[in-house]
Amino acid sequence: MNLVLMGLPGAGKGTQAEQITEEYHIPHISTGDMFRAAMKDETELGLQAKSFIDKGELVPDEVTIGIVRERLGKADCEKGFLLDGFPRTVAQAEALESILSDLGKKLDHVISINVDKSILMERLTGRRICKNCGATYHLVFNPPAEEGVCDKCGGELYQRADDNEETVSNRLEVNVKQSKPLLDFYSHKGYVREIDGQQDINKVFADIKNLLGGSAE
Ligand SMILES: [Zn+2]
Repeated sequence: MNLVLMGLPGAGKGTQAEQITEEYHIPHISTGDMFRAAMKDETELGLQAKSFIDKGELVPDEVTIGIVRERLGKADCEKGFLLDGFPRTVAQAEALESILSDLGKKLDHVISINVDKSILMERLTGRRICKNCGATYHLVFNPPAEEGVCDKCGGELYQRADDNEETVSNRLEVNVKQSKPLLDFYSHKGYVREIDGQQDINKVFADIKNLLGGSAE
């Protein structure tokens, strides 16, 4: 069960990744975790990645791809893996194809969790934080009893600059632009499975289970 998980910010990727890896006993491999592990183990590639990150530079593709290659070759990926955040570009996707072929594996599914932009906007811009105690609320999913006031301490609620409409909208646009060629690449290969991410989260997972079949155990 070799999987890639795709979806825009707010699509619920994190929740689904957790459920998939628990149900099918495969490792959840995110780019951040892979980098941290390689740096902690001080592998040659990990040290190279660290030197770029310490300088505040982007880690070059060949280092990232090398780290992915090391990670996917580990024993816990024997029964499969769930990649999240990698690949990001068609070049990385092509590199992944060749890594997998070297390892005698291939991708089974690219799971794309789809949610309309208007709904993502609602999910991503609704967060409010208490100025006083830091408690977080969401206008739709976890609203305070009284608008603009913290339930716990009566403090004033505010919206972080990162969560405002314009910033969120730009972030989504950038993500759509980046993921489009990647989705096209995988569609062409017949890997893409579209999942409706606008349903209740349990229903979303039920659809994924339907696609993947029974538990691997
Ligand atoms: Zn508060």
